[in-house]
Amino acid sequence: PDTLLRKPEWIRIRVPSGDKVAKIKRSLRENSLHTVCEEAACPNLGECFSHGTATFMIMGDLCTRRCPFCDVAHGRPQALDRDEPVHLANTVAQMALNYVVITSVNRDDLKDGGAGHFAACIEAIRQQTPTTKIEVLVPDFRGRQQIALDILAEQPCDVFNHNLETVPRLYRQARPGADYQESLRLLQGFKEKQPQIPTKSGLMVGIGESEAEVIEVMKDLLTHGCSMLTIGQYLQPSQDHLPVQEFITPAQFERYAEIAKELGFQQVASAPLVRSSYHADLQARNIVGS
Ligand code: SF4
Ligand code: SF4
Repeated sequence: PDTLLRKPEWIRIRVPSGDKVAKIKRSLRENSLHTVCEEAACPNLGECFSHGTATFMIMGDLCTRRCPFCDVAHGRPQALDRDEPVHLANTVAQMALNYVVITSVNRDDLKDGGAGHFAACIEAIRQQTPTTKIEVLVPDFRGRQQIALDILAEQPCDVFNHNLETVPRLYRQARPGADYQESLRLLQGFKEKQPQIPTKSGLMVGIGESEAEVIEVMKDLLTHGCSMLTIGQYLQPSQDHLPVQEFITPAQFERYAEIAKELGFQQVASAPLVRSSYHADLQARNIVGS
């Protein structure tokens, strides 16, 4: 439709290529694993894979929720694959990953929201490749936060990440089924249990938020113990998804980064193509020594 905005020149998709990337893709297929990098056709895939970073999506590729910005399919979730933790650990070892991000769809159908499966994956990776840094990018475990936090605190990750995605005013539109305060409480709850592990969150911008609202979110994150922040441009996966309201300029992304650092974040990644896991290894380098 004519309401679609044209992509500006700073949103350029780099085509992934190279032997290393091809090898990684083969290994993924052999182990029947899903990466967000591939499924979301992430523009950074070539760069991340060749740096030894990847984001795995565990517990299937069907989500119990339907967020209008997200390209993950909705449907009745599959049964948990008990072998997945070991397959994941094998793949991380084969790919010689030095930094891995593990994420999942929402599993509102599971009693622990899938926390136990996350913990099993961390444990399996630790056994095979103890030096690989592990970041978990978790769903909100709505209604199951306490049980999920108890489980996750027992099997510590290196970075605990949960994305707020947008400002509270746009939650009903962009994250129906989620609750801003509850997401903040999840970040705070983990920090209270594991104060030495950095917590991280991310926002997508360009869906109608104002700068003042973004700054309020930054402050909320800081008061809930979060020290790492990512900000990237929202890109509409298809015409059926939430439309882009605005392409935020690179200068504005820099401004957000400056403001965030001034307010007290220890690590900030803010640029058009930044994704929650983009350069996750570099983002964490100063903080967890990867
Ligand atoms: Fe994968 Fe994240 Fe890198 Fe994209 S930014 S390729 S999703 S690790
Ligand atoms: Fe996508 Fe997560 Fe929303 Fe599910 S809960 S639709 S995976 S953003």
